[in-house]
Amino acid sequence: MNTKQQRTILIVDDTQHDRETFRRYLLADQEYTYTILEEESAEQALALCSKLAIDTILLDFLLPEMDGLEFLGELKKVAQGNLPSVVMVTSHGNETVAVKVIKNGAQDYLVKRQITAEVLQLSVHNAIAHTQLQRQLQQSQERERIVTQIAQQVRRSLNLDEVLNTTVTEVRQFLNTDRALIFRLHPDGSGTVVSESVLAECPSILAMNIHDPCFCASYIELYRQGLVTSKTDIYNVEINPCHIELLSRFQVRANLVVPILQGSQLWGLLIAHNCKAPREWQSLEVELLLQLATQVGIAIQQSELYQQVQSELAERKKAQLELQEALHRAEAANHAKSSFLANMSHELRTPLNGILGYAQILTKDSNCTPKQKEAIEVIYQCGNHLLTLINDILDLSKIEAGKLEIHPEDFHFPSFLTWLSQLCHLKATEKSLDFTYLPINPLPTVIHADSKRLRQVLMNLLANALKFTDSGGVTFQVEVISNRSSTIGSKPVNNGRQKMTTDKIRFQVEDTGIGITKEQLAQIFLPFEQVGYSTHHSEGTGLGLSITQKILSLMGSQIFVESTPQMGSKFWFDLEIPTASILVQPTVLTSTANIIGYVGKKQKILIVDDHWDVGELLSTMLAPIGFEIAYADNGQAGLEAALKLQPDLILVDLMMPVMNGYEMTGQLRELPQFQDTVIIAFSASVYQADQQKGLEAGCNDFLGKPVQIEELFNKIQHYLNLDWIYDNFSEIQDIGSHLSSDVELTKEMSIPPKEELLNLYLAANIGDVEGVEQQVIQLLQLNPDYSFFANKILELAADFEYEQITKLIDNFLKSA
Ligand code: ADP
Repeated sequence: MNTKQQRTILIVDDTQHDRETFRRYLLADQEYTYTILEEESAEQALALCSKLAIDTILLDFLLPEMDGLEFLGELKKVAQGNLPSVVMVTSHGNETVAVKVIKNGAQDYLVKRQITAEVLQLSVHNAIAHTQLQRQLQQSQERERIVTQIAQQVRRSLNLDEVLNTTVTEVRQFLNTDRALIFRLHPDGSGTVVSESVLAECPSILAMNIHDPCFCASYIELYRQGLVTSKTDIYNVEINPCHIELLSRFQVRANLVVPILQGSQLWGLLIAHNCKAPREWQSLEVELLLQLATQVGIAIQQSELYQQVQSELAERKKAQLELQEALHRAEAANHAKSSFLANMSHELRTPLNGILGYAQILTKDSNCTPKQKEAIEVIYQCGNHLLTLINDILDLSKIEAGKLEIHPEDFHFPSFLTWLSQLCHLKATEKSLDFTYLPINPLPTVIHADSKRLRQVLMNLLANALKFTDSGGVTFQVEVISNRSSTIGSKPVNNGRQKMTTDKIRFQVEDTGIGITKEQLAQIFLPFEQVGYSTHHSEGTGLGLSITQKILSLMGSQIFVESTPQMGSKFWFDLEIPTASILVQPTVLTSTANIIGYVGKKQKILIVDDHWDVGELLSTMLAPIGFEIAYADNGQAGLEAALKLQPDLILVDLMMPVMNGYEMTGQLRELPQFQDTVIIAFSASVYQADQQKGLEAGCNDFLGKPVQIEELFNKIQHYLNLDWIYDNFSEIQDIGSHLSSDVELTKEMSIPPKEELLNLYLAANIGDVEGVEQQVIQLLQLNPDYSFFANKILELAADFEYEQITKLIDNFLKSA
């Protein structure tokens, strides 16, 4: 078998004798078999080089049309990427020419007379080796270029189709083959041609689904293991006949197949076909195809990953949209719930208004028998319980809907605490319990907090302690546990008039009651949870601690509890509160009991409310004291009544048919004669926003429903600047005698020292208004804990009851 390699040599010489000599020498070569072409003229030789792939040229330096140097120049132009190596031959050796020729690309320079068969063969061998190397280099550069280009494409595009199409186009171009394709394998062994680049003369097999049982049986596993097949001529190699049948259908003559792998999975095949003729595939070509298959593998992985991310993103977006929609729905439901609660609260509180109001009025009626009074008291207690329950449920709903807001304000801290203690003291006395209010260290005079909510929290803890204690007592302890001076940017207390500090204040309520077991402790903060003895539960709703805990969390605090069954419980919490130690007049609590009139001219009050019972109730409360009362049942009627009556004060419900309270107030405010008329709105709505809307419409103030007599009277007194007339001073006397006889309470009340009491006594004794007030202010400066005592004195002084003051002080002086 001939193992010599085949090479194509072109001899260009205008001397026939020389051409023949060279041919002879070459044919005698043992290493190569040559296809020898001959040309006399340079031009024809160049034309041949542009058409055929020639390995080496034996070129005579002197030709009629051009010399060897010019030929080398032209050859580079026509042969382009397929440049043959050149062995220059000359009749007369010239060193300078030889150097030039070599420099211009010839591989050798031989002088004809020195050429022997051996010399020529050796020179040609070298030239051929050079060509081969050159071509290999070119191919490998080209392969690198293509691989880089496709790799770039892969990185640039995440679109799989684009990547596959680029691959097949480039492969066909580079291999100069008739068809390049990518075959996508399916799990059942069948597959589809997903991408193809093909010459027009060959049939296209794009998108064709192929099921070749021979291929499945013989090749899939091998390709999965990395097999590469290259067939020069399918008719001349051993292939399964059924496979040949398929290949011939596609007019395949030679093929090169490399696997596209995804890890250990066979994704598909990258295939080159030669249709027109057999083809021997070069190892470089195989390598290129293998490299490309690896790149395609990466591209597929990237693209699939991208698709996966895309679909995940789309899914997430969809989920987000759904979530948003759910949120909208929840918000709408929440809104519906809020307005339902607002309306319900209105509906529930309005009838309670009548029940509680009349109960309050009837308890004052001296014609009632003790039994009736008792019954009225029960009505009042039940109504109050219902009101607490409604308020608690509303509070809880508001907290859960995120609608409960904390509204901090400056208020007088000692009188706030004293007032609470005073209430608890009364309750404790009823149950024969001790109640001790214990301010551990000097407390700030003014604190900046939400007094309503703080009162609610403390009242709940104190009321629980009293409720769940049957013997012993309750201690209410308040202590500043740390303080730090104001820092820039903190909220100023009292309009920034005073240097501010932030105190950490501990509030603690300790009782000697029934206590709570460890297991019960976990439940008591849950809504509607009441634990332990049912005998104590009748008064409660089971909501108090749950609300307390949530309010404290809104205030940035938390509640702690320690308890031993049968020994007692201790609840405490710490609050960071901006404080100031300045003198603020404590709120004077006016007692409405026994008010029988007021000083000065008759005042006119217009009540506008669509509930007749509210009007009835209010006029029952106010008419006996000397107010002229008019009544209208909607805003429109209210406007007309106001114009007719020219009232000093208007009490208006905000929610009414025909014309509501906001509109009526707005319209009144536009009339010059109602610019200064006091308008107080009242509504059963618990929402701050409704109250704010009322104030914006032009109301001076707001009263919650059910109307509390004390609050109503205080507001009327404040806005109309009234001095009440009482029928007697029994109540104050009561307090005085109570204080003097109750040593415990006297202790609670922090009575000033003897010298201060004497100064006050003297001022009161001579009816010195200013003197009494000055003494009271001095007392408060001395110790804010005297605020309760100071309030009582101011209350009496406001009514010019100096005799009562001296009596009271006398009692204290005696017991001191
Ligand atoms: P309630 O309206 O029943 O007082 P709370 O939420 O305020 O509702 O309290 C829940 C439960 O926690 C009470 O029913 C009671 O069982 C228990 N509890 C609260 N405070 C005390 C206390 N000081 N001593 C004993 N048990 C208490």
